[in-house]
This record gives sequence, structure tokens and C-alpha cells, in this order.
Amino acid sequence: MLAKRSVTLLGANLLFAAISLQLVLRPDLGAAVYPFYGLLALWTDLRRESELPLIFTFLATVAGGLLVLRAPAAAEKAALAVETAGLWCLYWGVSLYRGRDLADARQTLTQRMTLNSGIRDDERDLKYYRGYQESVGGQIRLRRDLAETARSLGRITESREVYHRLVEALSERFPEARVQVQAEAAGDPLVDLALRRQTPVLVKDAAAQAWAAGQPAFASGLALPIKVMRQPAGFLKLESDRPGAFTPDDLRTVDLFATMAALSLENIQLYEHVHEAAVHDALTQLYSHRAFQQRLREELLRAGRSQTPLSLILCDIDHFKAYNDSYGHQAGDQLLRSLAAILASFARPVDFPARYGGEEFCLILPNFVRSEAVGLAERIRARVAAEPFILQGRPTGATMSFGVSSFPVDATTASQIVRIADERLYKAKHGGRNQVVG
Ligand code: GH3
Ligand code: MG
Ligand code: MG
Repeated sequence: MLAKRSVTLLGANLLFAAISLQLVLRPDLGAAVYPFYGLLALWTDLRRESELPLIFTFLATVAGGLLVLRAPAAAEKAALAVETAGLWCLYWGVSLYRGRDLADARQTLTQRMTLNSGIRDDERDLKYYRGYQESVGGQIRLRRDLAETARSLGRITESREVYHRLVEALSERFPEARVQVQAEAAGDPLVDLALRRQTPVLVKDAAAQAWAAGQPAFASGLALPIKVMRQPAGFLKLESDRPGAFTPDDLRTVDLFATMAALSLENIQLYEHVHEAAVHDALTQLYSHRAFQQRLREELLRAGRSQTPLSLILCDIDHFKAYNDSYGHQAGDQLLRSLAAILASFARPVDFPARYGGEEFCLILPNFVRSEAVGLAERIRARVAAEPFILQGRPTGATMSFGVSSFPVDATTASQIVRIADERLYKAKHGGRNQVVG
């Protein structure tokens, strides 16, 4: 910049000196040489000098004035005066042009600045919308994954399957993480932390933290308890070998998935409770009448297919009405419970003891021929008859009567086998009670 200015100054001064010297040496050529001063104005203007054209025009005017004074002829004086005036006209012309040029340049600059700031604004808006689009996209993906997982969890009927699906869904979402469900802390540093704090925990950088049992084998991780019916049912943990692999947002997402799994587990537990209540008798905890009917049909089908025997014992408390009348209904209930326990104690794992009705019980015995079932009924009868059934320190005593029937010798259908056992029980009652008829 400085160099350019120096060249302009030097050049202008040399040109001025050259023209002036020429005019001093050959004043007779004044009118012909004088217009060269115009070159100075033009050249300094071209060099983008704002003040030099005026200075040199002024100096040239002085020179022009001197030349006019010294000129011998009137015509020459007039020519020089016109040239001096022409010099000023040139100066004004150039100034006018420069002024307009400058105004145009200013306008262009202003427009460019406005455009630039517009572009910057647009770029900022674009960046904001890209971020917004990303976060909305993330939210949509999360909702879709949650809905999908909720749907698939809703169809599961086994707790183990729920944990499996949970691990699968989170492994898909966090591909670089190791996802695990643990029943207990079992010395696991991450799970141990969640257990102690009783809240979800996020470890962004395991190396930056002090661990009681030495440095753990992960760089970052998160863990949280899975609570079913407000009770901890296990722990969910995600580990990564990369520090900072998980954010607080990820922890919230994992927590959502875990909550859904917990809801599914609660549903399964509730269903199991309801199912248990439906197939079990509340007083004696034996199977219910309905469960007995269902099982009897299944066992008969199986026995028919495998060509194996099956027996049924039906039994009834003797004079239970009198027992209730003597000792009260609660004592009667207690007797029902005790007899149910005795019956259950004689059953093998494959057998099916149930409460048939009010004070009637039954026992399905797969693979038992009638003689074996009669023998078992006899042992149960003897055991019951020998039991004191103590009530408030005093023995009460009770007996039962038994009817036994078998597949395929007595009957082939469920209703037949029950009817025959019932008929034989009736016979036992009429035969004097406390006996087995088979
Ligand atoms: P039998 O020897 O002929 O069987 O005489 P029983 O008195 O046992 O027979 P009955 O059918 O006349 O009476 C059955 C009684 O069982 C009547 C009823 O009050 C009683 N009972 C039925 N279910 C329950 C129960 O859940 N709890 C109590 N405490 N009693 C019951
Ligand atoms: Mg009875
Ligand atoms: Mg009865």
C-alpha cells in the first residue's frame, strides 16, 4: 500500500517537474505543453488518489496564471486561460465520475454486507433446523422402538422371555454396548453402585472414578434396578469400552425400556396369580374342581394313547355335618385343611390331588391299576382314622370313606370314571363309612 502511494507521489512529482521544466525552457510552446498537466489529474485519479488531482490542478493553475502573465500575444494568453479553465473542467469531471463510482461501490458494499448477513442468518437457521430435525428424528425413532418393544413384550407370557426381549431391544439401540440383566449385584461394580444408591446410575468415565474393588473392565456404563411390584427383580446394565459412550438421555431411554419390561413382568405375575387362584382352592390349596375336570380329561387322553392304566380316588368326610355342629365351622375348615394336607402328602409328583366339592376330595393316579389305588386309599383311610385332629388340646377325630375306579377296566371317559367312583363311595357310606370300596 505504502509502496503504491510512494510510486504515485514520485511519478506525479516527476511528471509535474518535467512539464514545468519544459514550460520554463520553452515558454513559446506553453499552450501546446500546458494540457499535459491534465495527464497528472487523470493519472493520480487512476491511482485512486483523492487529494492529489486537486493539488496538482491547483499547482497547474498557478503555473497557468504565470504563463498567461508572461505570454506576449493576446491570442496565446487566451489559449492558456482556456486551457487552465479546461484543466478545472477535467478535474470536476473526474471528481464527479469518482463520486458516482464511490457511491456505486458503497451501495454494492452495503448490498454485499446485507447479503452476507442474510446468508449467515440462513446458515444459522439451517443449522438450527438440522439439529431440530435430528432431535425430532431421534424422538420418532425412540417412540417407534418403544411402541414395537411394548407390543412384543405384551405378547410374552414368560418372565425369562421378557428379559431376553429387553436385552435384544437395547442391544439393537446401543450396538456398541454390552447389555446384561443380572439377578443380583454379585460383586459387579456397576450394579453394586446402582444397588447402593437405589437409583439408576451413569458412569461417564470409569477411569476418572475411584472403585473399591480395583479398576473395572469397562470405560463407561449405566445400570439400574428393575422393580416389579415395587420389589427389585433384577438389574439392567450397559457397558462400553469407550469413555463417554452414554449420556443422561440414554439413561432415561434405558430407564423407559426397563419400566416397560417391569410392567410386562408385573402383568405376567398378575396373570400367574390369577391363574393360580383359578386352578387352586383357596381354603385347602389343593387344585380346584375345574382344574380337576380339565386334568382328568388330559390324563385319560394320555392314558388312552399310551395304553397305560389310570385310577381315581374319590373320598368324603364321614358325618362332617355333625363335626361342624359339634366343634363349629372354623374347626370344620381346619379339619378340611388338615385332611387336604394328608391327601397331598400321599400324592406323587405325577398325581393330582383336588378338592372335588364341599367336603369331598379326589386324587388322579396316572399309571395306577385299581388294586394299587385301593391299596393307597386304604393307607390314606388308616392314616386319617389314626390322626387325633387336636382342637384346643383335645382330640376330635375324623374318618373318611373312599370310592375307587379305574381306566380302562371300569370306565373310558371322564364322566364315567367319576360316576363309578361316586357310586362306590356311596356304597362305602352305606357299608358303614370309614372304608374303601374299589
Ligand atoms: P356323610 O357321612 O353322609 O358324608 O355325612 P355328612 O354330614 O358328612 O354329609 P352331608 O352332605 O350331610 O354334610 C356335608 C357338610 O359339609 C355340610 C356342610 O356344612 C359341610 N361343609 C361343606 N363345605 C364346607 C366348608 O367349606 N367348611 C365347613 N366347615 N363345612 C363345610
Ligand atoms: Mg360327608
Ligand atoms: Mg358329601
